[in-house]
Amino acid sequence: MPVLYAIAVSTALVCLALLLVLGSLRRTGLPGIKEWMAANAAVLVSMPLFGLRGYVPDFLSIVLANAILACAPAFYYAGCARFMGHRVPWGWMGCAIALTMGAGMVWLYYLDDARIRSLIFSTYAGLMLFAVAVLVYRRHPPFGDRHAYLFTAVVATVFSVSALARGWYALSVPMADSIELFSGVWTMALLVVGAVLMPGLTMGAIMMVHGAVLAHAHEVANRDYVTGALTRKRFEALAEEHIQQAAIEKRPLSLLLVDLDHFKRINDSLGHAAGDTVLREFVRVARVALREGDILGRVGGEEFAVLMPDADAQLAQYLGDRLRMAVEADPARGPFGRCSYTISGGVACWTEGESFEWLSIRADRSLYQAKRSGRNRIHPELPLLDVASAQVA
Ligand code: GH3
Ligand code: MG
Ligand code: MG
Repeated sequence: MPVLYAIAVSTALVCLALLLVLGSLRRTGLPGIKEWMAANAAVLVSMPLFGLRGYVPDFLSIVLANAILACAPAFYYAGCARFMGHRVPWGWMGCAIALTMGAGMVWLYYLDDARIRSLIFSTYAGLMLFAVAVLVYRRHPPFGDRHAYLFTAVVATVFSVSALARGWYALSVPMADSIELFSGVWTMALLVVGAVLMPGLTMGAIMMVHGAVLAHAHEVANRDYVTGALTRKRFEALAEEHIQQAAIEKRPLSLLLVDLDHFKRINDSLGHAAGDTVLREFVRVARVALREGDILGRVGGEEFAVLMPDADAQLAQYLGDRLRMAVEADPARGPFGRCSYTISGGVACWTEGESFEWLSIRADRSLYQAKRSGRNRIHPELPLLDVASAQVA
């Protein structure tokens, strides 16, 4: 029994510490943290109640303690569901808790059998944790920070299996005696596993929150604040990666540089705020007109770059024209009214061994030609020789 107390006190203390950590993460404003805190609070409150067995009425140390503890996996599930933008099945979970508690009380007050009680609560905990494992596994992101999700799913699965094992083990104990139930080495091992359950799951939750915060920070750092397009720095880093990939896979890669025509006039006539709206509208239109895999970056004030994986010069030209026509057909709207605007663009297709810098120079030369020949057009790729002579000149 002293071992049991030691386990209960340690569990309660660890849950208290994690409660404080989760509390500090509430500032992130992410959903689910409140429910994860409630799950830890439930463990924290139920542990002393279990410890008072024999000193206080059984209703408090068995019924109430188990009822509060039963809420812990439900709250944890609710936290995961909210964090992942899923509906929380409060009704179902409430029914499951009520059913478990009802059955537990029947086998406490009428049929007095601790083995069956253990089986009932273990089955409830095992199924709830299995639901957590399934939810988290199904919702794990395919790329990037998925380790936190997989960790949580594995922890939930391990505890689900151990809870179910504990329930069935309880049945094999010959005497319906709680002393026997809590004294075997195997049972003690399962109790220890149970004690680290909530801390383990909470670690997973904290990891998921950190992942989300980090992803958000990256997003903020990599996206232009005004338009939401990639920043020049991020765009160039991605371009370097794609050039390496294109070299390895021997696939085409094109760059389209776009500049809004006479943008200064828009600012001068409608104001800077209207100019910002036009920039935002351009990015919105571009997202629709371009392909899903195309990468859009803001490389200057009213200059944008589009990296087109798997696109040769001809396809890049076609996509550039499609974008130009989409812009022409969709004037920007705002408090200033309607603002028609046009774009000019230049295309360059990556050639083997070429650096991003040189590719950009070639696309820029094409863009310059588009401007020179009257704007509102996408200039086709210039022959390599022309670009070289233009550079010398
Ligand atoms: P062109 O057709 O030759 O490209 O002429 P332009 O007027 O578009 O080019 P110019 O380089 O003369 O002017 C670009 C203007 O873009 C000047 C600058 O004030 C404005 N600009 C740059 N960044 C922003 C921004 O974030 N918001 C707004 N509203 N204007 C910006
Ligand atoms: Mg311009
Ligand atoms: Mg410009």
